Amino acid sequence: MRVNARDRVTAIYEQVRARNAGEPEFHQAAAEVFESLQVVLERRPEYAESGLLERLFEPERQIIFRVPWVDDDGHVHVNRGFRVQYNSALGPYKGGLRFHPSVNLGIVKFLGFEQIFKNSLTGLPIGGGKGGSDFDPKGRTDAEVMRFCQSFMTELHRHLGEYTDVPAGDIGVGGREIGYLFGQYKRLTNVYESGVLTGKGLTWGGSQVRREATGYGVAYFVAEMAKAVGRDLDGTTAVVSGSGNVAIYAIEKIAQLGGTVVACSDSAGYIVDEKGIDLDLVKEIKEQRRGRISEYADVVSHARFVSGGSVWEVPCDVALPCATQNELDEDAARALVKGGVRVVAEGANMPTTPEAIKVLREAKVAFAPGKAANAGGVATSALEMQQNASRDSWSFEYTDERLAGIMAGIHERTVATAEEYGLPGDYVHGANIAGFVKVADAMNALGVI
Ligand code: GLU
Repeated sequence: MRVNARDRVTAIYEQVRARNAGEPEFHQAAAEVFESLQVVLERRPEYAESGLLERLFEPERQIIFRVPWVDDDGHVHVNRGFRVQYNSALGPYKGGLRFHPSVNLGIVKFLGFEQIFKNSLTGLPIGGGKGGSDFDPKGRTDAEVMRFCQSFMTELHRHLGEYTDVPAGDIGVGGREIGYLFGQYKRLTNVYESGVLTGKGLTWGGSQVRREATGYGVAYFVAEMAKAVGRDLDGTTAVVSGSGNVAIYAIEKIAQLGGTVVACSDSAGYIVDEKGIDLDLVKEIKEQRRGRISEYADVVSHARFVSGGSVWEVPCDVALPCATQNELDEDAARALVKGGVRVVAEGANMPTTPEAIKVLREAKVAFAPGKAANAGGVATSALEMQQNASRDSWSFEYTDERLAGIMAGIHERTVATAEEYGLPGDYVHGANIAGFVKVADAMNALGVI
């Protein structure tokens, strides 16, 4: 007797929840993919054979370790380090490291799980993984961050390798941290293995455009969405949440493509500048001073800072959540719809809650999930790996062209897959299904491992 797709998928989902108790973000990410899988299995029941789904949801390896370090005053701190090596059917595990006090196993697992499908969608040979620590770099000196990174890598290095697992940055991990991590890896292994980390500096194996890639990619993706309905971004008003790496370069590229970004935020509140955000100033505050976004309104007299409010109250055509998971909830979605939003594209990973997605869907707002819209970062990491493997370095223009081409390819695959499965315009199902099918075919080919 053949069990129907819905029952089969529901049973496996219940198993995943029970086995990963107390990990709500992971359950949320899994639930969304399970919904898409029902659509796939109705047509292709063979994907439920050989325990494929059960294997897909169980990480290949999970590493949890102690990270002791000494602060500038001589006090010892103990943090927890993680690396979830989720799936290597398509290539070495690939995904960032996040340093933030909210990091726990469930968060790393949700991020690693999403990364499998995102990386698959890029069309490049990279598997999925993620890692990080509950270390908070905020307010720490460079010397403290260095000692933490050295301790973190002292344990992690034995699990990495250019053909095994290749971390990069994420929240709290930028060029400075990648430098300290790479230095310690090199020292421990006595090998100049450029391809073991991405997001490196330009003088020691990094790629042009990697720093800009996630934000640029989001803007390219939004431009593709506009093109699909016969529009461009000229005259578009956009609101971006966050003011970190993804937000900054999304703002830059949206402006270059003819749009105006009128608001951005940090955890303390948001700024509005109707004339368009002065990005040089934001870069100076955030990248150089590591300061707060409120400082923008101290310098620009016509701008205003709203303490504690929701940036989504600012009316816009395009909204780009670029801060963190579950930052855009149901109320925020209603505010956006009221403000006339037409497109929401996720620069962060899973920033939109399921309730908010429902509100946007009902209001016919085009919604692009992070797996598709923010894949430019990891895609450019794969380009960095290509350059490292061939001991080459490409120009900014060429790398940027490759990124734009990859984003157009992701858009095309997502739209075509949604159509193929009878769900035209549904970027969520399109991205999940296109990402899944490629990984599933590879897993099937490699046998039960
Ligand atoms: N952390 C980024 C992401 O969420 C980039 C990962 C990478 O470059 O490996 O996709």
